[in-house]
Amino acid sequence: MRLRFLIAATLLALAAGCATDPEPAADTQPATDEPPPRLVVLVVLDQVGDWVLDEHLALLPPASLMRRAWQEGARHTVALPYANTATAAGHATLVTGVAPAEHGAFANAVHDAARGHLPIVDDGAHPVIGNPDSHVSPLALRVPTVGDRLHAATGGKAVIAGVSMKARAAVLATGRSADIAVFYDDDIPALTTSAWYRPDGRLPDWLAAFNAEWPVERTFTTWQRRADSPCVVDDAPGEGPFLGWNNVFPYDPADSHKPDKTFGYSAASTPYLFAAGRSVIEAEAMGRDEVPDLLVLGVSGTDRIGHVWGATSCEYVDNLLRTDRELTALARSLPADARVTWVITADHGVARLPERNAVPGGRLSGAQILETARSAARAALGEGDWIAGYQSSSLYFTAAGDARGAELGAAVAAALTDLPGIERAYGFRDRATLAGSESSVDRLAAASMPADVDADLLVVPAAGWFNELSDVPGGGTNHGTPWDYDRRVPVLMWGYGVERVVTEDVADARRVAATLAAILGVPAPEDAMQPPLAGVETAR
Ligand SMILES: [Zn+2]
Repeated sequence: MRLRFLIAATLLALAAGCATDPEPAADTQPATDEPPPRLVVLVVLDQVGDWVLDEHLALLPPASLMRRAWQEGARHTVALPYANTATAAGHATLVTGVAPAEHGAFANAVHDAARGHLPIVDDGAHPVIGNPDSHVSPLALRVPTVGDRLHAATGGKAVIAGVSMKARAAVLATGRSADIAVFYDDDIPALTTSAWYRPDGRLPDWLAAFNAEWPVERTFTTWQRRADSPCVVDDAPGEGPFLGWNNVFPYDPADSHKPDKTFGYSAASTPYLFAAGRSVIEAEAMGRDEVPDLLVLGVSGTDRIGHVWGATSCEYVDNLLRTDRELTALARSLPADARVTWVITADHGVARLPERNAVPGGRLSGAQILETARSAARAALGEGDWIAGYQSSSLYFTAAGDARGAELGAAVAAALTDLPGIERAYGFRDRATLAGSESSVDRLAAASMPADVDADLLVVPAAGWFNELSDVPGGGTNHGTPWDYDRRVPVLMWGYGVERVVTEDVADARRVAATLAAILGVPAPEDAMQPPLAGVETAR
């Protein structure tokens, strides 16, 4: 029985791959012996790498969603197949099934000649509603997502929505044909979307109502540690400080220099995010009809809190327990016959705080990287303005530097590679050679380098090292490296259509996209890595 449907799905995938029109017609639903889920919830727990979940799993209540998914569902560890393990790249890889070199979202931000720091989702064309100086769209994505496939396969009837505190998570994990991507903008401060999704420049009514019900100044209350949250060392070296907050409970918004920003780094942002998830499910009637819908929840608090205090801190544990509680409450709030499939994963892991790490390591200074690059450039090419900036692990040359790119790249890469804490600096122009290298780190670096981007050198930190965070002077931690603690993330599947599977092997994270497509019963994006992970009804 299953084989027949597997063949049908394979034929359909092949047909879609060969067709000149990559969008399948609305009536080409794969054959199936049981209906697809009505709702698939993709939960991307930002920064909850494989080791992070392992460390804290025993603290989660036995009846909680994450614990049950672990104990009763399909459980995998997957590895992101590239070096620059950041949020944009992770979300895009999970839903496109290809590496950043192909999907294009290779970094969270790029260095723009005119503006400096420019988020990768800022296309300069689709204003954020309520903050028209910022722009957000999924145009950085060069390939279709699972959401795009679902949209095409259902003739636009499926509802595809993303909700996150971060624009890049909500936008890149859904794709160009999403109905809406909702994210927090601390300049407003409120949840919002962009003109890409709402060309009339107005928030949907449900979102305006949400913002009225959940004003940040009232939602952001003092963060007290939950009584049931275990805590060994609240005041560990390397934690914080962050915008006026130090490193021990409680955290009072009044102590923060920038409370609208700090809100996203507090546990208060977690129930806020899940409330927004419930609002979009209700407003868009997600999971109510036979056409499967896709909701992506980009849970950002885990990442922000991890950056400031580390993933083994009391702050982190407290927020992770709240996240699990919110997930469980969301699952319970859905009707019993809703046919919901949950896929819980992460966009990258994280390094331990250097002060709490058995591996010696530390924080790389962006200023030192820039100064080293500029001085190596002057030594190689003479006086001049050769280096434009350093952003999200990438070094950018000026136009003058680009004109002598090969010479400049070799000199600067050698100088950066000599810095303590840097494994190696790689030239984007060498991506083809690196892709064929025998060194796995070289290949992972190449997979972080799309063609036709302005970035010139990729800086790969040594194990235990990472780029410092400008808002957490002298403390905190980061990701963005090719080492296992950053690349390996869990995939927990639970609910409708999921079989109990536990694997010990580490699979390629690119297979998550095909897995989501199999669950939804639609063709995977054409170039997405196959096959789906075990444990889902791949027969569809
Ligand atoms: Zn992230």
